[in-house]
Amino acid sequence: MRIIFMGPPGAGKGTQAQRVAARYGIPAISTGDIFRSNVSAGTELGVKAQQYMDAGEYVPDEVTNLMVRDRIDEPDAAPGFLLDGYPRTLAQVEELDGMIRHTGHKLDAAVVLTADDEELVRRLLARAESDGRADDTEEIIRRRQEVYNEQTAPLIDDYRERGVLVEVDGMGEIDEVTARIFAALEGVSES
Ligand code: AMP
Repeated sequence: MRIIFMGPPGAGKGTQAQRVAARYGIPAISTGDIFRSNVSAGTELGVKAQQYMDAGEYVPDEVTNLMVRDRIDEPDAAPGFLLDGYPRTLAQVEELDGMIRHTGHKLDAAVVLTADDEELVRRLLARAESDGRADDTEEIIRRRQEVYNEQTAPLIDDYRERGVLVEVDGMGEIDEVTARIFAALEGVSES
């Protein structure tokens, strides 16, 4: 299975992505997590990414695309993968299409978690208190929402037209949302 996960910041993509990936026996690849671990380790990639992340902006496409390309080439991603937080721009959509085409497969599902922006700000501010992410101040959270709404939300239509869009209400208990996603993916088979 080849699945992507989209949704505004704080919609619970990471948690749900892990569960879905485990169910299908594929790796959950979170570009945000890869960037954060590179920032912590002080790698060259981390140095390039940090200023954008701290400001709530997207890391440039060239940097992000190269990183995803390398990760997808790893052997564990050969049977399939779930991308959490990628693609987020039109250039990334095109890059991913090329990467998947190259493997002779197709994208099976684009899962979008929908959620209310104000509720998300509340959730993210609560998370900031518990794990203290550098990009979890109210100003940066709102900037991340704006960037998502401007650059990423418009991509959803493209996946709808391709017939691979799986839209799921991301509000409610974590288990409830997982059940909704599993049910929505029931009819999706690997191509
Ligand atoms: P996330 O944990 O998915 O919210 O990502 C945290 C931050 O990492 C984002 O605010 C961006 O700065 C950066 N990032 C993650 N994924 C991407 C992507 N696909 N394109 C550009 N920047 C990204």
